[in-house]
Amino acid sequence: MPNWDDLKKIVPTLMQQSDKGFSKYAPPSNAAYSSDLIFPGAIAFPEDEENVSRIIDWAKPQGIPVVLRCGGHNYAGYSAGRGAGSLMIHLGGFKKVQLNVADGKVTIGAGCLNGEILSALKGKGPSPEVSLAIPSGRCPTVGISGYVLGGGIGFHTRRFGMGVDSLVGTKIVTADGKLLNCNKSENSDL
Ligand SMILES: Cc1cc2nc3c(=O)[nH]c(=O)nc-3n(C[C@H](O)[C@H](O)[C@H](O)COP(=O)(O)OP(=O)(O)OC[C@H]3O[C@@H](n4cnc5c(N)ncnc54)[C@H](O)[C@@H]3O)c2cc1C
Repeated sequence: MPNWDDLKKIVPTLMQQSDKGFSKYAPPSNAAYSSDLIFPGAIAFPEDEENVSRIIDWAKPQGIPVVLRCGGHNYAGYSAGRGAGSLMIHLGGFKKVQLNVADGKVTIGAGCLNGEILSALKGKGPSPEVSLAIPSGRCPTVGISGYVLGGGIGFHTRRFGMGVDSLVGTKIVTADGKLLNCNKSENSDL
């Protein structure tokens, strides 16, 4: 079993199965995968991307299975966990939505849910009665991370394409713990 106390030195908030609140964060938004057998042994709440990278650096050499969780809507249950010996990285702390009015681009934290993004952009158009939006899915609790990895089909799709088609850049942590910027000029192959 992983030594979770060791991980507590790296991550600011770590929840174990016996902790209050674990049962709130462990289940995905799909009862089919809500079983103690697949829930992780611990849930880490990183504070920034560097922290995600350090968690992976800690888990990988020990062979600890890691799952990522944004909105928890994965149909196949891939963000649910792999049992008591596994670790979930929960992105619920990444909630920032920052609009750059000059170019109309918005930077969205990897833990934001659809409804939160729409609320943050409400009334941010050229006048207060005009809201902005990004092409996204229809369900308010689906997460940006999940659908921007290849989906985001919704009300705007006919005109603007899918959510992923509007992505112009992102920061990623690779499976070997590297933190990379990906956009047209940097790591464009990714
Ligand atoms: C009720 C419901 C309604 C839906 N409606 C729509 C819709 O209208 N339009 C549409 O396009 N899609 C829709 N979907 C599909 C949905 O967009 C995808 O299932 C999406 O992947 C869910 O993302 P999530 O962040 O909520 O899920 P999660 O389960 O948190 O994540 C999905 C996958 O991505 C991984 N992941 C999460 N965050 C990261 C990250 N930061 N970096 C790397 N990997 C990560 C997870 O480990 C998991 O494998 C719907 C799904 C459901 C269940």
